[in-house]
Amino acid sequence: MLTFAEGTAFVTGGGSGIGQATAIMLAAAGVPVAVADIDGDGVTQTVTRIEAEGGAALGLALDVTDRAAVDAAFDKVEAWKGAVTILVNSAGILRVEPFEDFTTEDFETVMSVNVTGSFHCAQRAAAGMKAKGYGRIVNLSSVSGYRAGVGRTAYGTSKAAIAHLTRQIALELGRSGITANAIAPGTTMTKMTAAAYTEENKANFLKMIPSGFIAEPEDIAPSIIFLASEQARYVNGHTMPVDGGYLAS
Ligand code: NAD
Repeated sequence: MLTFAEGTAFVTGGGSGIGQATAIMLAAAGVPVAVADIDGDGVTQTVTRIEAEGGAALGLALDVTDRAAVDAAFDKVEAWKGAVTILVNSAGILRVEPFEDFTTEDFETVMSVNVTGSFHCAQRAAAGMKAKGYGRIVNLSSVSGYRAGVGRTAYGTSKAAIAHLTRQIALELGRSGITANAIAPGTTMTKMTAAAYTEENKANFLKMIPSGFIAEPEDIAPSIIFLASEQARYVNGHTMPVDGGYLAS
């Protein structure tokens, strides 16, 4: 039985995919959830679903690359239902281009959302968590942060950086009752990957996945929920693959 400390969860990228599934599961477990995403329609969709199921949600249109906006969003959530005790950094983008053609602009855009955005939210969340002496930060890395993939120059680099950012937070904040961990999902069917995992190339991906199927967001979210729970207090600084065995093979 998992339990969650009193307080709210702040889920970035909560308007779609893994972030949305996580927000819905946390709310179903009784945690008030702030759903933050640059996509306002996605936010509305998640909040409507949570409220329809009897949960508490606060929708926030937020660009995680904007530090002032991140600070203002956390202020709003704290005024809503008190301290943020859980942060899930699921906002992310993917650009696929051959290494030799990768533009500086695209490289910096991916790094800015995936790495700097997670840094902004973690640093702001940590301030409140430190005051409370408790916190759970869960970042989203990827199997692409472990194994190079065609066209994933910026994406893979950003996800490897997330694994290290996670270690750094764990080291510096562990004694304040805060844990930081990351999940490294494998192939998961979401808005981000719909174009990549087509019926034609699906067979190629399936060959590389021992479990023999492509995940749904609901296959990834439970691992995030565990790391966000009180029971995960001795798991700190790690990145856990949730990949159907892809990295093990
Ligand atoms: P998704 O596209 O369904 O969700 C990502 C969300 O992030 C979207 O709702 C998008 O609007 C939001 N977002 C993008 N830029 C933002 C910004 N600047 N500020 C705030 N929100 C922003 O994709 P997903 O697959 O659910 O991805 C969630 C996380 O999981 C990402 O970090 C992704 O890299 C990671 N991941 C996904 C897979 C996969 O196969 N789907 C695999 C490994 C890791």
